[in-house]
Amino acid sequence: MQNFPAIEINNLSKTYINNKKTTEALKDINFNVKQGEIFGLLGPNGAGKSTFINILAGTVIKTNGNIKVWNYDLDLNPREVRSSIGIVPQEINLDPFFTPQKLLEIQAGMYGVPSKDRITEKILEITMLTNKANAYARSLSGGMKRRLLVAKALVHRPPILILDEPTAGVDVELRQNLLENIKELNKIGITIILTTHYLEEAQSLCDRIAIINNGKLIALDRTEDLLEKISTKKVSFRVKSHTNIGEKLKNGLRINYSKNDIISIIYNKKDHQIEEIISEVKEKKVEILDILTEDADLEDVFLKLTKNEN
Ligand code: ADP
Repeated sequence: MQNFPAIEINNLSKTYINNKKTTEALKDINFNVKQGEIFGLLGPNGAGKSTFINILAGTVIKTNGNIKVWNYDLDLNPREVRSSIGIVPQEINLDPFFTPQKLLEIQAGMYGVPSKDRITEKILEITMLTNKANAYARSLSGGMKRRLLVAKALVHRPPILILDEPTAGVDVELRQNLLENIKELNKIGITIILTTHYLEEAQSLCDRIAIINNGKLIALDRTEDLLEKISTKKVSFRVKSHTNIGEKLKNGLRINYSKNDIISIIYNKKDHQIEEIISEVKEKKVEILDILTEDADLEDVFLKLTKNEN
């Protein structure tokens, strides 16, 4: 295997223009995905994740920038780019009257894979669908349907698999199962890129994580380094309503106001102690009715990273 990145993204931008309304969905994005890694692309709704995937898939045209997929330039070699990636969509779009075997054969035909090069049986095996090969798709469970989508994306043997929110709407047990499948695919050498808005999921699976927010890449790191950086906690205080104690605590932490009577503070466990924060809030002469601490969720992490940026 030659030593080029699986994907190279340089100065990628996308602006949608609809009825005179312009939306900058991606703003000067730069990053590489290495061969053989599991790479997570995280971001809240509207961050630009689908736009990114659709550009790779060829269904959205980029505004600016250069993209190489498996060393093929998207502008010069769009067909080679397309054959280097398999995309597993979020929506289940299977013809209910075909069997997995038939669906895979049709898909292989669409990609022009000659019969002798088809690996239908192997794919059914990898996705654990061998014993459902001849069952109607409509009779498959939710988890099996997801696996069949993965199987479809593999028929042309792409070195890169892109999964768009693979576990959206999937229950906990199936989710675990699906994550294991993804790991197995990676073990046989497939580079994996997945989008998600669950930090936990990316955390358990990805070698590296990129975070995009508002079309901008705001973080990219090895998972463990990123988690270290964002080891944030959130403490919320229920106070007497309409309390306004300013924008910041004495130690510089920002005070967020949510509902009328809730204020919250996001802090890094490494830098601050809960006792210190409580006493600083008390110093503001505010009447505290209740205190709740929790691990910051992804939204908070975005908030923090975006703030740090400025
Ligand atoms: P995500 O997948 O992270 O939720 P999207 O890529 O779907 O984000 O959207 C990024 C931004 O681009 C959003 O503001 C969205 O409204 C806008 N957008 C997405 N698709 C289109 C489109 N076809 N036309 C106009 N704006 C779009």
